[in-house]
Amino acid sequence: MPQTPRCSGFQNALEIMPAQGKCTVIVGCQWGDEGKGKIVDVLSEGVDIVARYQGGANAGHTVHVGESEFILHQIPSGVLHDGKRCLLGNGVVLDIRQFFDEYDALVKRGIDLTGRVGVSQRAQLLLPYHRMLDKAAEGAATTKIGTTGRGIGPAYEDKAGRRGVRVIDLGNPERLAKLVDSAKERVCRRLDQLGVGTGELDAAMEEAMNLGERLLSLSTDTGPEISAALRAGKRVLLEGAQGTALDLDHGTYPFVTSSNTTAAGAATGTGIGPTAIDSVVGVVKAYTTRVGEGPLPSAFEPEMDEHVRMLGGEFGATTGRPRRCGWFDSVLSRHAAQVNGLTGIAVTKLDVLDTLPELQVATAYRMPDGSVTDTFPADTWSLSSVEPVYETLPGWEAPTGHVRRLEDLPTNARAYLDRLEELTLAKVEWISVGTKRNQIIPVD
Ligand code: GDP
Repeated sequence: MPQTPRCSGFQNALEIMPAQGKCTVIVGCQWGDEGKGKIVDVLSEGVDIVARYQGGANAGHTVHVGESEFILHQIPSGVLHDGKRCLLGNGVVLDIRQFFDEYDALVKRGIDLTGRVGVSQRAQLLLPYHRMLDKAAEGAATTKIGTTGRGIGPAYEDKAGRRGVRVIDLGNPERLAKLVDSAKERVCRRLDQLGVGTGELDAAMEEAMNLGERLLSLSTDTGPEISAALRAGKRVLLEGAQGTALDLDHGTYPFVTSSNTTAAGAATGTGIGPTAIDSVVGVVKAYTTRVGEGPLPSAFEPEMDEHVRMLGGEFGATTGRPRRCGWFDSVLSRHAAQVNGLTGIAVTKLDVLDTLPELQVATAYRMPDGSVTDTFPADTWSLSSVEPVYETLPGWEAPTGHVRRLEDLPTNARAYLDRLEELTLAKVEWISVGTKRNQIIPVD
């Protein structure tokens, strides 16, 4: 009797072969602004593809190359390395107008993007009405979230509400017109309720739609593209935006962004399976900052806040808003290690602490009822009344910006890093000591 093959559907053995390449997620472990852009830029050198997996133009990743500064909002930070393929996954909400502004500005500055940028066919479009709704809703809210006003929340609401417009819809004018018309009707009604005029909407929509063909020409299916690359032995970085404490599920809800910033979002946000991911590097600043509303348990006293803000240049790359600053919070970094399954951490901005005679690290929180916890509470509201339990460590009071090897760091700087590693429960793999590409210390 001839036997029926069990897997007769597989035409191509490659489809079931394990991937030979390497896939690493880079994720922020605090409230964003940890310096992910710099770490992604440095690590991009050794990879073939860099893909963004969530968020939109609310991100502002600052990268310094030589004397030039680039602020990347939607295009992955790997774009500054020649030849790397840069993808925007299905998890992003793509603002067409802003995307092409950024694209064209990079080309103008001499970056060759030919064939290098791909956009998921499944990505949601962020359209002008999302921005209008965002600003109007935040203006009218009693509990302000401190959004960037870039339309991110409303675009994700449309996605979850199953009424969003996706990149692929740009290829079907009839479907596109239906989706846009019903969205406009809904939005105008809502804006009317909020007392906001819609005068400029039609012109802005026309401008966005005129870019549709151009966007379609860059569209791709990011999941299969990344999977094929991994099977072919290539290396891939998945770049997170914002940070763990801003994750929709695991952050300080409701003072969060509207997507899953954490590492698991890298799989759903690009279209690969979680087993394709080999490692997860968490980026932590050597201290803590937060922009927007919401609690910051380890916040500095006002004078120190101002001092460190100036030392670290802590002003938002997207909005220019001053960031609140505080001591390193290991309750949060342990939460990040747990939620993201960190395999290692990259500590940034160590140099910013060079002049401080003494440092503190939050090791636990004293809760309003007097109990002490070393795990990150789910109750965001309790975070505004917790009292961090601090451990004091001596500063190193010496410059570190020139250091390129771990053993050349001042002893107290190494002790500080050792303590962050112990408290975070994740190994330090990279230490960044300045904005420049070469100001990085790899740790074996
Ligand atoms: P991202 O959104 O996580 O990429 O972070 P941002 O770009 O908003 O903020 C990081 C800022 O810190 C940028 O201006 C970087 O150039 C800068 N930066 C990154 N790493 C270092 C570092 O090790 N030392 C110093 N002094 N600045 C750094």
